[in-house]
Amino acid sequence: MSRQSSNNSGHKARKRFGQNFLQDQGIIRRIIRGVSPRPSDHMVEIGPGLGALTEVILDEAGALDAIELDRDLIPILRTKFFNYEDKFRIFEADAMKFDFSSLQQDERPLRIIGNLPYNISTQLIFHLLQHTTCVQDMHFMLQKEVVDRLAAKPGDKLYGRLGIMAQYYCEIEPLFIVPPEAFYPIPKVDSAIVRLMPYQNKPHTALCLSTLERIVKTSFGMRRKTLRNNLKGVIEAEQLQNLDIDPTRRPETLSLPDFISIADFVYKNSASDTINPAV
Ligand code: SAM
Repeated sequence: MSRQSSNNSGHKARKRFGQNFLQDQGIIRRIIRGVSPRPSDHMVEIGPGLGALTEVILDEAGALDAIELDRDLIPILRTKFFNYEDKFRIFEADAMKFDFSSLQQDERPLRIIGNLPYNISTQLIFHLLQHTTCVQDMHFMLQKEVVDRLAAKPGDKLYGRLGIMAQYYCEIEPLFIVPPEAFYPIPKVDSAIVRLMPYQNKPHTALCLSTLERIVKTSFGMRRKTLRNNLKGVIEAEQLQNLDIDPTRRPETLSLPDFISIADFVYKNSASDTINPAV
């Protein structure tokens, strides 16, 4: 799709919906090669926009459900893809509130794809992590920095809550960087494609997910403070030591199994009730 044809629909890109439409055919082909949709696949696209990816997915996949918030785009999509109505469903909805599990119609797991609106991408990923049991894989275009956060390891500058929780549920594989010129309008930052593959059997499991989420969030309350300070009132320094975790460590040095052992301890001791509900 050329830059000119993005505008042929008469639609004006809206900043509040995070609309940066893909216009580079080479990048679109590369994304689709990475996803490799098949006739047996049930695909789901978040934010189809003007249909740059939709068009190619519809040619390859057995079924596609699209979730789009901008109501002005719905008639454009319906007209453009009227030939595919037997396998294409459009939902005018907010992906942040959408129950993705409700889309599954048979034993086929969902394959989710999206050039995500950058303003809500982090919250959207947290929302999607709640639905991973019905998902085979997810391919997203994100701000490169968000991809780096998803894939970050202990000790990395960008290691934090997003990466830890995403890595709890999924194997994360950054695929390639996409330059700003691939979009219209042109964003200010580099983007990147990432693949998230939910584990069938998680390598590490916590006894209580909400406790793990709270422990991770509380541990990073003040990034530059020690674990002992951030977790004051939640777990004692001595108890951390008993778990073989030095309380003077900074949160970004802890691995996922470290966070799980703290969370499991807190859960078993029913200390979760005493965590400050504001965190
Ligand atoms: N897929 C198109 C492309 O690659 O050219 C458009 C991508 S654009 C970055 C993000 C799309 O997500 C827009 O179509 C926007 O309207 C839609 N969108 C924004 N917020 C949304 C939400 N909460 N739920 C569903 N779609 C949303």
